[in-house]
Amino acid sequence: MLKIENLSVHYGPAQALDGVTLDIAKGGTVALVGANGAGKSTLLKTIMGVLRPSAGQIYLEGEKITRLSSTRIVRKGVALSPEGRELFGELTVRENLCLGVANQRLERAELESRIATMLNYFPPLQNRLQQLAGTLSGGEQQMVAMGRALMSQPRLLLLDEPSLGLSPLITDQLFDIIRQVARGGTTILLVEQNAARALSASQKAYLLANGRIVDSGKSEDLLNDPQLRRTFLGAGSENNPDASRLGASGLTNIRLEKNRMDQSIFQPSFRDEDELAAHQLKGLQWTVKHAYEGSSFYRDHFDGAAIRPGDIRRLKDIEKLPFTTAEDLRDGYPFPLRAVPFEQIVRIHASSGTTGKRKVLCYTQKDVDDWAHFFARGYAMAGVTPLDRIQIAVGYGVWTAGLGFQLGCEKIGAMAVPVGPGNVDMQCQFLVDFQSTVFCSTASMALLMAEEVHHRGLAGKINVKKIIYGSERSSRGMRRKISELFGGAELFDIPGLTELYGPGTGMECSQHDCIHYWGDYYLLEIIDPDTLQPLPPGEWGEMVVTTLCKEAAPLIRYRTRDITRIIPERCPCGSILPRHSRIKGRTDDMFIFRGVNIYPSSIDDIVSHVPGLGSEYQVHLSRDEESGRDAMEVVVEKGKGVEKGRIPEITAELSHQIKKQLLVSTAIKVVDYGDLPRSERKSQRIFDKRIQDSIV
Ligand code: ZN
Repeated sequence: MLKIENLSVHYGPAQALDGVTLDIAKGGTVALVGANGAGKSTLLKTIMGVLRPSAGQIYLEGEKITRLSSTRIVRKGVALSPEGRELFGELTVRENLCLGVANQRLERAELESRIATMLNYFPPLQNRLQQLAGTLSGGEQQMVAMGRALMSQPRLLLLDEPSLGLSPLITDQLFDIIRQVARGGTTILLVEQNAARALSASQKAYLLANGRIVDSGKSEDLLNDPQLRRTFLGAGSENNPDASRLGASGLTNIRLEKNRMDQSIFQPSFRDEDELAAHQLKGLQWTVKHAYEGSSFYRDHFDGAAIRPGDIRRLKDIEKLPFTTAEDLRDGYPFPLRAVPFEQIVRIHASSGTTGKRKVLCYTQKDVDDWAHFFARGYAMAGVTPLDRIQIAVGYGVWTAGLGFQLGCEKIGAMAVPVGPGNVDMQCQFLVDFQSTVFCSTASMALLMAEEVHHRGLAGKINVKKIIYGSERSSRGMRRKISELFGGAELFDIPGLTELYGPGTGMECSQHDCIHYWGDYYLLEIIDPDTLQPLPPGEWGEMVVTTLCKEAAPLIRYRTRDITRIIPERCPCGSILPRHSRIKGRTDDMFIFRGVNIYPSSIDDIVSHVPGLGSEYQVHLSRDEESGRDAMEVVVEKGKGVEKGRIPEITAELSHQIKKQLLVSTAIKVVDYGDLPRSERKSQRIFDKRIQDSIV
């Protein structure tokens, strides 16, 4: 759109710009950041033809515009909203707006239509068209100044210090409007003293100091550069006396002070695989000793296998340890695996499941802190920063999901929008009103929301850049659809399980073909689920985890039932953290339907308690290709000798019980006794036709 080559400008003998070169692509917002007197306004005035350069060239879409008059430059599609607004206070708002097209002879209808467009962009001006501009508030005056520039429908809008002297709230409003204007296809060059604000509103930025470009790059990268933050973005405070005036003027960016933007603090401390292995051995030895001394379950377990903590001398010795299973947890209800006194327990979480079948896990404060720390690491890996707004659409409560996402969000310093699951209307409203940039949910919920966003025509009004989804398998097709309908959002699969802290035990990286897992918090083994023998790296098998520093409920060789494989090579993304493939499925037949974990045994249980039913059943799960919605049908037999007339009553009771106990709605079909196939071996009862295409 705009190319500037080697531009120099002098005021008399004083040089204001020195060899400035920059390039602004079409359709983006580029920020020009620098202190007072750095040359920002000079550059804009030179582009507009107000100042004459002493050297260098300016091109607009390939056409040289250096030294053209301001009027001609405006006609070519460039407009400036100047610093200090420069309105005519004695003229009305309408008259000021019309000045933006003073030298274009517009038809009356066209003029009215453009004014209407401006009122659409700037709703506060709607009832003020006849008011004198001088009587408006500062924010409204800024809107008139921007509106005046936009009246000429510029291809390139130069915005000089739009937030100068305005309150944070008004500045927020203005930046929302600027984002809308950019979405409308106008390219914007944004000049701002408030560096953090400018960087977060742009895709690319140039830093100007003493008339020279001193740095440039992706705005996000510049924001995250610790050196730059100290120089440009720090807010002046007792603890940060060196911060420049720039940051101090960034009143609206108090949020930036919450946390260090330097996200490397969440990254692991080890530098190579050897250091990691040494750390893991120490963690394993501590865990085995701690579990043996603190937990009666583990003591019995190890005694039974004739293992003593001292037997663990190298990592490979882990194979001497017995496995722990979900059944062990259920049997130990209500506080299985507990290895610390109750005084040290600050929280419990539980998995979903029928009463008495829940897996309950205890946490010490350190466990909670560790979880928050590595969850933040996962967010960082997905590129989430303190400037993000994370809409959390997973369950809050006794299960781990919501609180995990929340902890990590607070740790990284982003803004949480804790909505919880469901509630599509509210989700949509918040996506629009709060401009959430990250959406966290299950894969099904993400798909459901993607469709709602599409149906309601909200794609252009929301700002979701990343979707972090977990707890469910998802196909490539489903991922593609979610991303498309969300306007190209980037998807990240987040693994996790309640037993192992909760969600966030790893994260898909920017390469999008693996999960990095936190090898400094737990060991991962892959075993053959039938022989229970360890499998070599690269082979698919059951994931078995052993925690390295979990206090309240350590896991030792816990069989997760998840099927995955370790990917042995380092990732091209540069992270040193080990990795596994996305979860392919489960070894047992638990299935997830609309975000609810359902064990066939629960259905078994319900069916057997409804009078008039036989014990055989089938569950059919399908996914509507068009809508992507999941459907579940339970097929049951009526009991031997039960009259046909009772079928409606039986159907209603079964539907009611399933809804009550499993919290899902299903279709019910009652067939005659003996209609369902039987086999001496375990019958297949679950027919999951939802995932057709490749998973990994
Ligand atoms: Zn990676």
